[in-house]
Amino acid sequence: MADCLFCKIVAGEIPSRKVYEDESILAFHDINPQAPVHILVIPKEHIADGAAGIDETNAAAVGKCFTVIARLAKELDLKDGFRVVTNNGFASCQSVPHLHFHLLGGKVMSGQMV
Ligand code: 5GP
Ligand code: ZN
Repeated sequence: MADCLFCKIVAGEIPSRKVYEDESILAFHDINPQAPVHILVIPKEHIADGAAGIDETNAAAVGKCFTVIARLAKELDLKDGFRVVTNNGFASCQSVPHLHFHLLGGKVMSGQMV
């Protein structure tokens, strides 16, 4: 999608620090990390909005995001635990309207979810 930041990262028009890539998924370091490990895992396909844009046509890519998350958690040695977050819409402070999952770890996180 023309004006989407993450589509530009997928296309290589904006550089990123990639940690995983295959034909349908890209994972890269967040530019403003909120934890020692903060990776964004995204379907390369532009799934608009966020979780609200998931349907039967793209559910396979979403499932694959989670296999990549599990793989990265092992590779990055997050054996003590990690958190996966996806924001959806204004009230969640979502800033990029292309479905993405934040993989956060490397520290003991707050017990508060919000
Ligand atoms: P959201 O707020 O939509 O859930 O998450 C968007 C994330 O994208 C934020 O954590 C933000 O730091 C990250 N981000 C914004 N611009 C860039 C960028 O140009 N490169 C990378 N790697 N991350 C970005
Ligand atoms: Zn996009």
